[in-house]
Amino acid sequence: MNDASQPHRPASEPIFEELGIVRDGSNLFHQTVDHVLVAADLAGLKHHQRIILAEPKNEIMVHFPVLMDDGHHRLFKGYRVQHNNALGPYKGGIRYHSRVSLDDVKALAVLMTMKCSLARLPFGGAKGGVKLNPRELSEDELRRVTRRFCSAISHQIGPHYDIPAPDVGTDAQIMAWFADTYAQMTPELSRQDVQGVVTGKPVAFGGSVGREKATGQGLVEVLAAMLPELGLEISKIAFSLIGFGNVGSWTGRLLCERGARLVAVLDHTGAVREDRGIDPRHLDEHVRRHGGVVNYSGATAIDEAEFYATPVDAFIPAALEQMIDAEKASRIAASVVVEAANAPTTPEGDAVLLQRGIEVLPAILCNAGGVTVSYFEWVQNRSATSWSAAEVDEALRLHMQAAATRTREARARYDCDLRTAAFAAACERIGEVYDLRGVFP
Ligand code: NAD
Repeated sequence: MNDASQPHRPASEPIFEELGIVRDGSNLFHQTVDHVLVAADLAGLKHHQRIILAEPKNEIMVHFPVLMDDGHHRLFKGYRVQHNNALGPYKGGIRYHSRVSLDDVKALAVLMTMKCSLARLPFGGAKGGVKLNPRELSEDELRRVTRRFCSAISHQIGPHYDIPAPDVGTDAQIMAWFADTYAQMTPELSRQDVQGVVTGKPVAFGGSVGREKATGQGLVEVLAAMLPELGLEISKIAFSLIGFGNVGSWTGRLLCERGARLVAVLDHTGAVREDRGIDPRHLDEHVRRHGGVVNYSGATAIDEAEFYATPVDAFIPAALEQMIDAEKASRIAASVVVEAANAPTTPEGDAVLLQRGIEVLPAILCNAGGVTVSYFEWVQNRSATSWSAAEVDEALRLHMQAAATRTREARARYDCDLRTAAFAAACERIGEVYDLRGVFP
């Protein structure tokens, strides 16, 4: 019971102290572990289970040289963090971005553990990345970086151990180079086995139909399940997007197909607004040709301040982490923030949204569609079968609906916000499995 005379200590504080973690409020890994520990406490996880979740199992850091087109060699830094594999092989994307850092990769690996558990997938959580700006590298250079990175970590991944996938700055082509390199490094494995080492591959090379759009499609299924209780109908909402890459563009397209109206988009090149509705396919063509939304002729250019203040029903961040701070949260004019990106809201931003009565649908629920269809791809690779588009769509719909229901039920059980509820529902399953397995030896 709380002693009212004592200052409030977050539930995670004793564990941070025990593990010698000096809390830094701006550190995404600390923020993420904080969320997990608060939820683990609610879900009744035992002390040893909570300390296991507070640190990754393995943190791998590699440096490798790559020949650049101009003849010089550049040294790259890559990471693979394997957070937890209580539920199954490690699973998580590989990011190519100039701001990739160990602590951010650790945070994203924790989120993968939580996401896979919430979606009840037989996977643990991992994440990887290489610190580079893919826009500054030629296709040949990207291929050489991918092959060298894969070879550098090839002994620490595998179709039954750790299965990477695409994330920011990587795509199906990069996964194809990755799988091919892994095949060259492991001649003892069968071709069929090797294919399952990464997901998000091109369909012709062991990928699943529906993987490219899966994250956006999963988010639309979550909205279909969750909006009615907020008094909103998917076919009538106006929405805005930060980011128009894989997740943003597919979310835009699929929501508009259900009758919703896209009114504003912000990306790294600028922002545009059109209250009568932006055609997402048309915008997608522009972005593919010009690299971003800037100079799009179907809408008016606006500045960032106007983008955040544009009135919408749903505000959907689908770009990078930590974009919505307290100041931006105070300007958002929406009923609900739908987190398509991982960790797009800072704790301060979250507090402002809560205080303003703006509902937040958490990322580990909203963007779980990507890893869910990755799981379907892995199942297809392992069983040498191919599912039809209709089979993938239906299985994804059922998985996302179940995850949304699990989150809602946890909110009722623990009387908390949806983010804490999603984490608690994820922790429940991990605690249950640790109870059954015990701790070796
Ligand atoms: P992407 O590389 O395809 O697109 C990233 C988008 O972010 C681009 O439109 C880019 O312009 C925009 N962006 C970058 N910097 C920005 C800035 N400063 N301001 C505004 N916009 C900016 O990446 P993606 O695969 O669409 O991933 C987006 C988010 O979704 C990430 O958080 C990622 O981890 C998460 N996610 C992706 C998947 C997936 O299947 N791709 C699955 C789950 C979660």
